[in-house]
Amino acid sequence: MGIEKTLQHIQDRIIESAKRSGRDPGNIKLVAVSKTVALEKIIEALNAGVLIFGENRVQEAQNKIRSQELGVRSEKIEWHLIGNLQKNKARTAVELFDLIHSVDSAALAEEINRHAQKTGKLQRILLQVKLADEETKHGVREEDLSGLIDKVLLMNHIQLEGLMTIPPYFEDPENARPYFRKLRELADRAIAKGYPVKELSMGMSNDFEVAIEEGATMVRIGTALFGERDYRLN
Ligand SMILES: *Cc1c(COP(=O)(O)O)cnc(C)c1O
Repeated sequence: MGIEKTLQHIQDRIIESAKRSGRDPGNIKLVAVSKTVALEKIIEALNAGVLIFGENRVQEAQNKIRSQELGVRSEKIEWHLIGNLQKNKARTAVELFDLIHSVDSAALAEEINRHAQKTGKLQRILLQVKLADEETKHGVREEDLSGLIDKVLLMNHIQLEGLMTIPPYFEDPENARPYFRKLRELADRAIAKGYPVKELSMGMSNDFEVAIEEGATMVRIGTALFGERDYRLN
């Protein structure tokens, strides 16, 4: 199947899930996860109508965003960083990305704020929340979330827009539902307190429909769009 058909199929599934849960499909953004994906395929996706691309490594993203091949087309793209960010890469991340999904500490936010201030940028961010006790996953713990929000709101060059989570992987996406619901509840509680966290980045190829039913406003989809990843290309 060509990428146009695949994209159409995914968009149909997004619309169906939104309707099932009484939501406006227009409030759900597709983030095409292009990590390990070659530039030609990114360009194909762009030509098919994809507007937002998500990358999980700063270096790899930089090579793509700055590549001659992409040229001025890169300016039409909204680039999102979805992977873990180290403080020493904060400067480059601020230079490259429109939205950073993976902020999970005050120290990292401060570093982002500092670099954004230098260039007069207002850096849009999401806070990554860790809802399961998994050693390998990043994210702020639920009990530390409102403290972190309070700190981030004091940073003048950061615009907090919402929350992000990556639940544990389950074969059956229904098992991820409680995690999506939890993130939604955390956001609802924060919104009730006046915090600006309306975006919910949750759901990937295997479970985005369930995530939409639970309130996702951004779904991060890689393999369902581009096929299995080939990490040898990295
Ligand atoms: C790779 C990745 C995705 C996309 O995963 P797929 O299962 O290929 O859709 C989404 N979010 C994050 C944070 C990722 O690293």
